Amino acid sequence: MANTDNDTIAAISTPVGEGGISIIRISGDNAIPVAQKIYRGKDLAKVPTNTINYGHIIDPDNNEEVDEVMTSVMRAPHTYTCEDVVEINCHGGLLATNRILQLVLSYGARMAEPGEFTKRAFLNGRLDLSQSEAVMDLIWAKTDKSMKVALNQLDGNLSHLIRKLRKDILDVLAQVEVNIDYPEYDAVEEMTTKMLKEKATEIRQRIEALLKTAKQGKVLREGLATAIIGRPNVGKSSLLNSLLHEDKAIVTNVAGTTRDVIEEYVNVNGVPLKLIDTAGIHDTKDRVEKIGVERSRKALDAADLILLLIDNSEELTAEDRELLEVTKDKQRIVILNKTDLPNKVDRDELKKLVGDDKLIETSIVKNEGMNQLGETISKMFFEEGIENNQSSVMVTNARHIGLLHQADDSLGDVLKGIAAGMPVDLVQIDMTRSWELLGEITGDSYQDELLDQLFSQFCLGK
Ligand code: GDP
Ligand code: ZN
Repeated sequence: MANTDNDTIAAISTPVGEGGISIIRISGDNAIPVAQKIYRGKDLAKVPTNTINYGHIIDPDNNEEVDEVMTSVMRAPHTYTCEDVVEINCHGGLLATNRILQLVLSYGARMAEPGEFTKRAFLNGRLDLSQSEAVMDLIWAKTDKSMKVALNQLDGNLSHLIRKLRKDILDVLAQVEVNIDYPEYDAVEEMTTKMLKEKATEIRQRIEALLKTAKQGKVLREGLATAIIGRPNVGKSSLLNSLLHEDKAIVTNVAGTTRDVIEEYVNVNGVPLKLIDTAGIHDTKDRVEKIGVERSRKALDAADLILLLIDNSEELTAEDRELLEVTKDKQRIVILNKTDLPNKVDRDELKKLVGDDKLIETSIVKNEGMNQLGETISKMFFEEGIENNQSSVMVTNARHIGLLHQADDSLGDVLKGIAAGMPVDLVQIDMTRSWELLGEITGDSYQDELLDQLFSQFCLGK
């Protein structure tokens, strides 16, 4: 749906729960009149724009005070949505916040769909599509680095690059048009083909350079799927807890008690890890545990990084060897844990089994070796230089990556067409196609379904 409706929309814009304050955001032509109906304080219709006003929310039905609030009034067009916006800062607490939202809804606003505020900002021309997506990335950003990438995109840096690519393609197409008007000269035809080939090749290189940033970008955006594995009691839950700095998983002394696969995000030296705690890979007759084990095998397949724990205080078991074997082709770090206890592991054998992979020694209970683990993880992923690359554009969004690949393919078709001696006007079609595909990244060309699908991923109130 395009923005055909003039509804005034409202939603709670802060995380719902026991916060210090909550914000109810209202946007649209009636934002101010709606707020005024349930507000006792200054006349909001008369207060200057961009002011915060002290007052009370009342239920007009019975004149009962609902909450003491600060109300921000921001008039169009210089607001987030380019519409009139009122934000009611209330005391938080689920009850009061919901009650105010209900009042706003019964006095003329409708509930905003997820992402609808940002969608309006886009439709009213304030943000382009990749910038709107950056808003979403910012909301979900897991580390400082993912934040920087998203901010960069919000600034429009990716958009600038894409628009430049599109402009260059358009220039080529225009030049081809001009040349086609003089078909009687053979030399022109030859020149046109040569230019098309050079330009398509050059633009392709620029697209491919962008695509190269996607792998690291994806890690920053979605987190690095990390499986912590090891036989029961080696310290998997302890490691998870230590990384999370809180006691989320259940740590016990009974072997095999971490039964659920838990997913948590944690920031390790700038790398967002999506941690999957597993019950370890081992045969078991216990049905409940078996579910955990099967899931663990899946987790192992899905993992980008394996943290494999070995217990320093016990001799290597068949299960340790099996785990070392099944993970040997994966990106992994082997962690020899419980180094505070007397050593029983044959180091030479272990080193042989670990091969060229990283081997780190820790005592998780004594908090030893954790820094080294963090540094090793960050080196593994930033070696190829995100660090030196922070100011430049990085593609992080799966939709953008897909479109860039398609645009790249279309340009590939241009080159194939030329090589096969196809007429210029046919080659032109593929060139135009790449221009359109790139336009979908910035939303310069878009379809309504895309918009609906995209903005629906936002959380409510954004
Ligand atoms: P899991 O079954 O692999 O998840 O192992 P847990 O994390 O539940 O740990 C099993 C037991 O080993 C617990 O009692 C932990 O406190 C203990 N443990 C974990 N790491 C260490 C360590 O580095 N040194 C010592 N001495 N005990 C540890
Ligand atoms: Zn555990």
